[in-house]
Amino acid sequence: MTINRANVSAIAEDLYVWLPPKRGWGLANCGLLASAKTALWIDTPYDPALAGEFLAASRRLLPAGVEVDRVIVTHANGDHLWGAGVVPDAEVISTREALEHIHYEPTPQQQHALVVGGDPDSPLGGYLREHFGRFDWSATDPVHPDTVFTGELELRVGEYPVQVTGLPAAHTGGDLIVHLPYQRAVFTGDVIFGSTPEYPGDHPVHWAGPLENVITACERILATGAEIFVPGHGPVLDRDGVRHHIAYLTYVRERAHALHAAGIPALDAARRVIAEQRHPELGLPERLVLTVAAEYRHLDGTEVPNVLEAMGQVAQVARELAEDAARSPRPRAAAARD
Ligand SMILES: [Zn+2]
Repeated sequence: MTINRANVSAIAEDLYVWLPPKRGWGLANCGLLASAKTALWIDTPYDPALAGEFLAASRRLLPAGVEVDRVIVTHANGDHLWGAGVVPDAEVISTREALEHIHYEPTPQQQHALVVGGDPDSPLGGYLREHFGRFDWSATDPVHPDTVFTGELELRVGEYPVQVTGLPAAHTGGDLIVHLPYQRAVFTGDVIFGSTPEYPGDHPVHWAGPLENVITACERILATGAEIFVPGHGPVLDRDGVRHHIAYLTYVRERAHALHAAGIPALDAARRVIAEQRHPELGLPERLVLTVAAEYRHLDGTEVPNVLEAMGQVAQVARELAEDAARSPRPRAAAARD
């Protein structure tokens, strides 16, 4: 697909960020670090059309003859990984855990079949089509990282140091952050979902957790001393923006723990946290179903559920919210999405 006005901005010396102009599932931010001889991408767009758009924008910014030689992938969700096919000669770098995680995700073509082949009248089929139907993976091959590591990895892009740190399970198993000390910037992946008063984002979704690990990762991100934070989705943040995000995560964690202690089942707990409307400016409140369920699994010590089952609950709650909104219409920031 093409997203009009996808925006590449310079955020520091030789550092650019590609920001999709809309929020929503799968519309992730990507980075370009340029030098006189080589260039690095941090994450890729979701499908080949979007990735081609980012590649064309990158080439306009790079000196003649310089190519994107490396791609660091912050985690193994497709919206950060599946565009790597447009730079087939680039070395794709991830954590070892992310490589393992890829085997649990549907392949791009399986996901495409799921989105276009589902019953659009069922909650799940309709939800997938509404939120993922804009992407095209009908001819996208799976991406396999070329280089994996655990712990820390240091590399250079021209004269610029790049410090890559693998994290304990947070958004997914196998997240990493990329710290660029010269640029005083950190690419956080989906450990952070950005939102500011000017550019409200979406509710975060966390598949792995526990939220304690996500919060610790945010604190680690601040401890780099950086000033510029590029989240996996949403606007670029300053240090206060990261602190606000920690407050959001702390609130959701506290509510999940209190509702769990009160014996409320996970799905009803998510419905209650959504109904509290603590952050009406954020889109996709139904994603709290996934985040609360992940937190409950850690409290209960239970297994990760089937992803389609979990998405079915998300779709069900989205439908309930839409029905509520239709019954009692009132201005909601979330309704302005798309
Ligand atoms: Zn993402």
